[in-house]
Amino acid sequence: MIPYGRQHIDDDDISSVLETLNSNWLTQGPKVPLFEQALAAYCSVQYGVAVNSATSALHLACLALGISEKDTVWTSPNSFVASANCARYCRATVDFVDIDIATGNMCCITLEKKLKIAQEMNCLPKAIIPVHFAGQSCNMEKIAELARQYNFKVIEDASHAVGAEYKGKPVGSCEFSDICVFSFHPVKIITTLEGGMAVTNNLDLANSMRLLRSHGVTNDPNQMQGDSHGMWYYQQIELGFNYRMNDVEAALGLSQLNKLNDFVARRQSIAKRYQELLKDSMDAVPLSILPDNYSSFHLFVVKVAVATDEDKRRLVSLLRQSGILAHVHYIPIHMQPYYQKLGFRQGDFPQAECYYNQAITLPIFPSLTMADLDTIIQTLKRHLRTIKNDNS
Ligand SMILES: *Cc1c(COP(=O)(O)O)cnc(C)c1O
Repeated sequence: MIPYGRQHIDDDDISSVLETLNSNWLTQGPKVPLFEQALAAYCSVQYGVAVNSATSALHLACLALGISEKDTVWTSPNSFVASANCARYCRATVDFVDIDIATGNMCCITLEKKLKIAQEMNCLPKAIIPVHFAGQSCNMEKIAELARQYNFKVIEDASHAVGAEYKGKPVGSCEFSDICVFSFHPVKIITTLEGGMAVTNNLDLANSMRLLRSHGVTNDPNQMQGDSHGMWYYQQIELGFNYRMNDVEAALGLSQLNKLNDFVARRQSIAKRYQELLKDSMDAVPLSILPDNYSSFHLFVVKVAVATDEDKRRLVSLLRQSGILAHVHYIPIHMQPYYQKLGFRQGDFPQAECYYNQAITLPIFPSLTMADLDTIIQTLKRHLRTIKNDNS
C-alpha cells in the first residue's frame, strides 16, 4: 500500500531523540526554546511558541487575540475541523468564506463581498483564519489589505505550509498576519510526533500564548500581584492549559528542521512530475499554483471528472484495491454534523461542496519514487477509463 503521506525519520533524528532521552531534561529543558528560536529564524519572524499540537496553537492564538463569545471568526470550509473549532473553544460564532476552486484556498473576492455585507449589518468578524491549503499560501497581501480596511485580526493556519514561500518570503514571516500556526503531526511536512508552533512578531501576543500554554502560571515577580514569597513561588494569573511541547519532541523537531528544505524540494519535484504526467489529461486536473507562491506540497490534489458521487467513491475504492491509498481533503467543515447543529446547511458554500465532489489526494512524501509516480498515474488513468466506459 502506498499511503497519501508519511513521515521521514532518519538516523540523525533517532540520535537526537536518544540524546535528549539520556539527558537531564525530558520536559521544559533547553530543546524547546532552541526549536522555537530555530524555526522563528527560519521564518524570519521574532517569536515562536511551541505547543503540543497545531490545534492548541490555534486555540492559544484565538485567546491571545481576545476572541470571546461576543465575537465572530471566519475561516475556510475546505480545511480540517481544527481551523474552525479553535474559535468555538472561545465560544465565538464561526462562519466560513467560500473557496476558489482552482486552488482550494479562501477566495478573496468572496471575502471582500462578505465583508461589505457584514459591515452593513454590523457583524464584522474579529478575526479571519485563512488556511494555506495543500501548502500554497492564500493571497495574504489582499487579506492584510482587507484586515486594515475592516479592522480584523489574521491568524494563518499554515499547518500544511511550513517551508513554503509567498512573495519570496517564508510562510510564517507574519508580514501579513498577527499570528501564524504550524503543525508537526507525522503526516505534515516535518514532525515532532504530535506538536505545533505559533509564530508572531508581537511580543505581547507571544507572552500571552506562553502564559496560557502552561496553566496561566508565572514565575516572573513583575507579573505577580504583591510580593514573591521566595525562589519557589509562582502565581496563577490567568486560566491556562497544559499545552506544552516537551524536550524530546523539540529535539526531533530541531533535527527535522535541518532537512526541511530538502523535504520541500523533494515534494516540489514529485509535484512537477505529477503535473508533467497529467498535462494532457482532461479527466484529472491538478490544483493551480499561482504566481508568488512556492508551495510546500503537503498534499497533491487532482480534480477528477466524475459524473456522480458514486463514481468518485468507486474511483477511490479502485485505487485502494490497486494499493494506492488515495484520500479526500476535505469534507467541507460546515457539512459536519456538529456544524449542521449550529445551523449550517448543504448549499451554504457551493464552491467548497463542488470541490469536495471532485477532489482526490494522491500520495506525496519525500521517499516516494519516480517509478511509484508512474504507477500511480497509470493506475489512476486506467480506473478513470473503466468508470467512463461503464457509464457510456
Ligand atoms: C493537521 C491540521 C491541523 C491540526 O494539526 P494538529 O497538529 O494535529 O493539531 C489544523 N489545521 C489544518 C489545516 C491541518 O491540516
